[in-house]
Amino acid sequence: MNKLVELFDTTLRDGTQGEGISLTVRDKIQICHKLDEFGIDIIEGGWPGSNPRDAEFFEAVKNEKFNHTKLCAFGSTARYPNKIEEDPNLQALLKAETPYVSIFGKTWKFHSEKSLGLTEDENAELIYNSISFLKSKGVIVIFDAEHFFDGFKDDEKFAMKMLKAAEKACAETIVLCDTNGGSLPSDIIYAIQKVKKEIKTPLGIHAHNDGDLAVANSLIAIENGAVHVQGTINGVGERCGNANLVSIIPNLLLKMNYKTKKEINLNTLTLLSHSISEMMNLNPNSRAPFVGKSAFAHKGGIHVSAVLKDSKMYEHINPKLVGNLQRVLVSDLSGQSNIKYKAKEFGVDIDETTEFSKKLVSKIKQLEFQGYQFDGAEASFELILMNEKNEFSPYFKTIDSKVYTFFDYEEHKQAEAVLKIEVNGEIEHTAAEGDGPVNALDNALRKALLRFYPELNETKLVDYKVRVLDEKEATAAKVRVLIESSDGKETWTTVGVSTNIIEASWQALCDGLNYKLYKLSKEKKLTA
Ligand SMILES: [Zn+2]
Repeated sequence: MNKLVELFDTTLRDGTQGEGISLTVRDKIQICHKLDEFGIDIIEGGWPGSNPRDAEFFEAVKNEKFNHTKLCAFGSTARYPNKIEEDPNLQALLKAETPYVSIFGKTWKFHSEKSLGLTEDENAELIYNSISFLKSKGVIVIFDAEHFFDGFKDDEKFAMKMLKAAEKACAETIVLCDTNGGSLPSDIIYAIQKVKKEIKTPLGIHAHNDGDLAVANSLIAIENGAVHVQGTINGVGERCGNANLVSIIPNLLLKMNYKTKKEINLNTLTLLSHSISEMMNLNPNSRAPFVGKSAFAHKGGIHVSAVLKDSKMYEHINPKLVGNLQRVLVSDLSGQSNIKYKAKEFGVDIDETTEFSKKLVSKIKQLEFQGYQFDGAEASFELILMNEKNEFSPYFKTIDSKVYTFFDYEEHKQAEAVLKIEVNGEIEHTAAEGDGPVNALDNALRKALLRFYPELNETKLVDYKVRVLDEKEATAAKVRVLIESSDGKETWTTVGVSTNIIEASWQALCDGLNYKLYKLSKEKKLTA
């Protein structure tokens, strides 16, 4: 039988302590619904006694309905052992009206003495009284043993006494916290095995990532008897973050034979991770295990040819299990297999032994040597492929181009482009202004082409990126320009490389418009 683990998410509480993370009440409620749908058992929504926004969240969330998840409000034990009933922090917790409440208490003698100025007995009494009071009001209490592992190292007897006070007060779960995040897996095993001998209350683990071990420490605690795990989505949190539930959950389910209270649709994991990153206005981490864009991306030629035969050879799990995708990158490390794989995505079967395939591979390799990169510019790759197959040739030819830039900041328009292009044997001569040289060229090219291809009217440049390729060469270095274009429905990216930034931009601009025209001609052929 698979053993059960309770999932406790603190993205909205500990997670928001992370640098650069701020969520509105509306964001927090949306995240609760995503976590509920995913199958998280308990969501810690915030610390109502510490900031008004969290109190506002608990007011607002009272009107929301969840299918599975239960809410939890977080706070500390009371300030003084003999004034429990009127303690403002405990009152704020009750006012949140959540079924669960988590309170943290000191289990490190050093903290108890230094920061609270309490004796051992007073601190134990504070924990016991705070939990008993909350329980008498009908809430389920989770006790967070703050700094437990550091406290246990420093004074085992003191730390154990605090856990026993929580157990005597009938806390539902006692969560052992690696608050400073510096413990090693061996510290976790040593402490938890000793605790298990004396404490019968279900144990939980709350790990921080300061030693890059939060996921490992959480998993090892579970293997040693913890039945409740706390963490955040994408590992966000104070300093280096909290234990990352996005890594913990697939490890538990796919590799360790654990199960969760509600069955989890693991193939929605990547979507959950990315959508919460977007809500936090963070770029999803491309190297994130399981869910990152690069988690199943293959570049080396030998790897790629092996993966194409059987993906198990270089992948620890099937990416589909977590809703991710296998990707093959076209790069100078790669052999023919990558190009074959990519070409297949565009409906072109390449037989590695043919002359055509050899020519294509050597062309791509040569371009990559010059600084082109097609990982992020698949539209340019498709044009090269189709050009080699004689299914595409550029829709226009540049006869002449000039760009003037003005450093007159009083004037709104700062650049002007003059173009002479040839379309179907006809010459078109245009000029246009722009906010800068690339914008002026883009405007002039579009203006010149509209007479021939009115469909280009809806195509727009939406993103422009420049990367210097050889920094040592300073201003004479090559640059790579990536341009993202959109027609309102689809977006595509093209690339240009040159020592001249305008020339590189021009190549990417021309590819961008050629790509749109190529796609239109394909559609027409299909409907004709
Ligand atoms: Zn924490």
